[in-house]
Amino acid sequence: VILNPLSEDAERIVRRHRGEKLVSGEVFEHARRLVEWRAGKRRVIPRSLLSGYDEEVDVLAQRLLFLTAALNFTPYSSELKLVRECVQALSKARLMALGLAREREVLSIASEFFDIRIGSPTVEGGMRFNGVLVGKRELFAREQLRYGEPWRIRYAVSWRSLSRIIRARELRFIDLYLIRGLALLSFNDLIEYYSKLLGLKVEDYITSRFEELQGREAKELSSSTRQLRELLTSIAAELYKGPAVSGRAARLRSEHFPPCIKGILAGVQSGSRNYAITVLLTSFLSYARAAPKTARQPRIRDYIKDPRVLSEEILPLIYQAASRCTPPLFEDQPGERLNILYHLGFGMSSELRMENSGRSPWYFPPNCEKIRREAPGLCRPDEMCREIKNPLSYYFASFRK
Ligand code: SF4
Repeated sequence: VILNPLSEDAERIVRRHRGEKLVSGEVFEHARRLVEWRAGKRRVIPRSLLSGYDEEVDVLAQRLLFLTAALNFTPYSSELKLVRECVQALSKARLMALGLAREREVLSIASEFFDIRIGSPTVEGGMRFNGVLVGKRELFAREQLRYGEPWRIRYAVSWRSLSRIIRARELRFIDLYLIRGLALLSFNDLIEYYSKLLGLKVEDYITSRFEELQGREAKELSSSTRQLRELLTSIAAELYKGPAVSGRAARLRSEHFPPCIKGILAGVQSGSRNYAITVLLTSFLSYARAAPKTARQPRIRDYIKDPRVLSEEILPLIYQAASRCTPPLFEDQPGERLNILYHLGFGMSSELRMENSGRSPWYFPPNCEKIRREAPGLCRPDEMCREIKNPLSYYFASFRK
């Protein structure tokens, strides 16, 4: 049985065992094996993870990994990337192992995400996907003559169902074989895109749990999650040669800011003013300056000891950007000053007192996809934006380069 770890069936399993089995030794051991194969030199998924495993334990172990990542690491950290890539690779390998011989099962799993049209060959050598006829010439255009059954075009899905993967830059629109709004896919393509989409959904799930848990008194699930946390950190450090959102606390260097942040500092229009200043700029500057190492309810005062860093470095930049907005943000909305301190974790206080830090969550910068959704005008990507998914990753990656 292959289960999408976020499906309703999987959810039922998690609900049934919440609390007890979720942190059992058996589940922990399985969770460890789900990621440990990435540490070896060969990086081959062991056979025991491809078949013959207990599906309930498998679902619980994946959930334990998600929660461990959400509790301990920032979104877009290399540990989260590791969990996501493991789930993605496992799902792909498990579906590939079923092969074309069990096409119906693969299609039933993939149809959770895609409305799949199965092509039927026409006498002229083309294919018909329900009402859409693709002629022989079109079908074999653009080097589509690939060898082997799993590579032959067999299905069509609306290209829109792949847009999440395209937006995440995991697939280029120009690489799709498109005909009349349909993306034509082979068996291998279908599995590839299904796994990628699953990986992105896992990332969304962990990020949403991270946001939910921020500022809350979340208890460690058990000592086993501590071990799992350490395991994720050690594998990720080896695999990605340093965490993705690593960085030293240091004076802000504006030449490394991403285009969206540079644009906000230059001033924004009324439509996206509040989001730009209070949500994005405030979180970006504070996290970029403090570079917290942990995601477990971080408080600014644990990373910034001198209040002048806030009052003389971070807040002046935010206030200047607010005054460059059209119209200036605090002129008609003076209450936004309070909101900025709230987003920095100081609660609803008008005074900057380090002892108040931790009264509200210290908000993490939204990811690029969310920014494009909430305030599309702010995102003006450059070349380097192709490599990252969060403005903070851009900043630290630019440093590294
Ligand atoms: S892609 Fe991300 S970092 Fe780059 S401009 Fe857009 S929101 Fe900013």
